[in-house]
Amino acid sequence: MIDQQTTTAKHFMEMEDKYGAHNYHPLPVVLSKGEGVYVWDVDGKKYFDFLSAYSAVNQGHSHPRIVKALTEQAQKLALTSRAFYNDMLGKCEKYMCEYFNYDKVLMMNTGAEANETAIKLARKWGYTVKGIPSNKAVIVAVAHNFHGRTTTIISASTDPLSTTGFGPYMPGFQVIPYNDVEAMEEALANPNVCGLWMEPIQGEAGVMVPEHGYLKKAEELCKKHNVILMMDEVQTGVGRTGKMLASHHEDVHPQMLILGKAVSGGLYPVSAVLTSDEIMLTIKPGEHGSTYGGNPIACAVTMEALQIILDEKLMENAQKLGEIFRARMNTMIEKTDLVNSVRGKGLLNAILVNDTEDSSTAWDMCMKLRDNGLLAKPTHGNIIRFAPPLVMNEEELHACCDIIEKTILNFVAE
Ligand code: PLP
Repeated sequence: MIDQQTTTAKHFMEMEDKYGAHNYHPLPVVLSKGEGVYVWDVDGKKYFDFLSAYSAVNQGHSHPRIVKALTEQAQKLALTSRAFYNDMLGKCEKYMCEYFNYDKVLMMNTGAEANETAIKLARKWGYTVKGIPSNKAVIVAVAHNFHGRTTTIISASTDPLSTTGFGPYMPGFQVIPYNDVEAMEEALANPNVCGLWMEPIQGEAGVMVPEHGYLKKAEELCKKHNVILMMDEVQTGVGRTGKMLASHHEDVHPQMLILGKAVSGGLYPVSAVLTSDEIMLTIKPGEHGSTYGGNPIACAVTMEALQIILDEKLMENAQKLGEIFRARMNTMIEKTDLVNSVRGKGLLNAILVNDTEDSSTAWDMCMKLRDNGLLAKPTHGNIIRFAPPLVMNEEELHACCDIIEKTILNFVAE
């Protein structure tokens, strides 16, 4: 849908349409500049970014400190591959291990790759430490998960959009219902289970927040059954939910932590798995890796991006603004039938639109939000996710709430 667009915008959209794969369905807006909480389109119109590249831009667009770290490192040494040592990787590994309180880290590039890494680590540990018979390891995943879209990862997916037409699937996954402690207990009792793989809040599924106690129970059951808790905090991590990790809302320290997106503040693809010596050292030289994983630019960018979270108190800001945001959104439930519920933690929130999953209401609302200067995107048809950069201030947040309220309360289905 490319209506009401200028010739310039149309030109860029048509080019993507003609030469690019059709593996996304973007909102029709063509961006050419970003700074802090704002983005601008090719015609110079300014918007509040309320998606933050799916929570990668927690530190705001093109944070000057990260831009500086990136450009300085790019001019010095960009890539050595892991064939040689360099003077940045060890520094960044030490920084990340101390920051998140783990023994070791393995750096990759994308969230999906970090999850692939976690799967390999859990299996290797399962065979070499837990004593699972060869090729019998099981990883327990949770329904409605989203961990990426490689062929292995989709083998544990319950979303037909991710799976249909891409089989055969990788064996060795068992999917249990979400937020179901009994099913978890039963699954983990299988001695061939090496890992419990989950997101603390399911972002892509529509910001599904589990009952308080669910994460703690997962940690306890993993300890009891000698299973690795593999926590995918690619979307929820690095301050997004008002704590450094969403796991911290229940004082959980997962044995394996999977990170991506905001570890690099949106300036460079960086992902990582952090875990104990016992687990990490099961993988030997040559058994896993990536040419770009943990390269000097990635290291410089990551250390700066993570330090900004602390220096600018972005967790505290996300916590405070999240409460204001949900309070304001909740007032709409009484004013309109269009909003069913509001949920989330910190600045990872969603509203459930009162319509069916296959309706176009949420999409049409996002189009109107765009017209009114705020960019958000539906997830799963009738849910709109709201995740602005964490550098937003209170005044800006209220301005955004005004736009959302005005748009939704004036919304008339076409
Ligand atoms: N895990 C979670 C929880 C995610 O939300 C995503 C992406 O949205 C991924 C993994 C995949 O990350 P990437 O797109 O960088 O491969």
